[in-house]
Amino acid sequence: MNLKNLTPIREGSPTCKICEGVGFLLEENVKNSSSGVLVLCSCVGESCPCGGKAPYMVYDESQNKMLPCVCHDARIELGGIEFLVRKAGIPPRYKYRTLDRMDLNVDAPGKDGFVIAHNWAHDLIRDWGKEGIKPEGLYLWGGTGSGKTLLACAILNELILRYGTECKYAKINRDFLSTIRDSYQKESELHGMEQTIKKQFTDVEVLVLDDFGANKESDWANSQLYDLIDSRYEEEKLTILTSNISPVEWKDKAEGRIFSRLMEMAHPLHLDCPDYRLIHSVYKVE
Ligand SMILES: [Zn+2]
Ligand SMILES: [Zn+2]
Repeated sequence: MNLKNLTPIREGSPTCKICEGVGFLLEENVKNSSSGVLVLCSCVGESCPCGGKAPYMVYDESQNKMLPCVCHDARIELGGIEFLVRKAGIPPRYKYRTLDRMDLNVDAPGKDGFVIAHNWAHDLIRDWGKEGIKPEGLYLWGGTGSGKTLLACAILNELILRYGTECKYAKINRDFLSTIRDSYQKESELHGMEQTIKKQFTDVEVLVLDDFGANKESDWANSQLYDLIDSRYEEEKLTILTSNISPVEWKDKAEGRIFSRLMEMAHPLHLDCPDYRLIHSVYKVE
């Protein structure tokens, strides 16, 4: 897939009909990969004398020194995107999924909620980094298969492709609460790392917290969740939450503190397409 409309990077040949100047593409039909991989376009890779070997330099006889290969800048940019996607921890099936590839024209029950959320995501990405605009977080809630994780990850993918933003995807139990619990265990390699873990979650520019409040949480867990969203709110960092419960259901938890913070930092959007198979055909998640 041509990435021309998804990234400002132009390291390929401006006249190339395949990448239209980007220098690399998203190859979608790749064995053992549900989301595809980034590949160098032939306009920079085909005649490349370095053979794709880092640091992508070649010896120039006339100048008697090493010079960047023709592929150099395109490979560096491609590697930069791959690095950010990997570092963000986006689940394999949602890697490189973007808003423009979701078909919103198919008729399906409960589609409207998804379309509205899709519009919010679109505006958030469009206005990212614009002066005077402070992006509001999102609280995407709905049942299994409603497309909330897909949408949250599409926002991360597009912020990485378009702006090179540092992002993080985390399942709230597995990646946050459990890692903090591990840091209390003497035998764990995370022992004593509680503050470091929390700092990573607070500092990252954009954070997706998937399955927020999926299980019945203890007072300890609720206070961890509150501290996390509160510190991100204080730092003015963008947080996108997905949950299977409505924001109102947070009212009684942690003395209502979680609820009021959520209301201040995230716009609630209800995704209510009830049928897993339908949403998959509609939104092309295979
Ligand atoms: Zn090309
Ligand atoms: Zn090369």
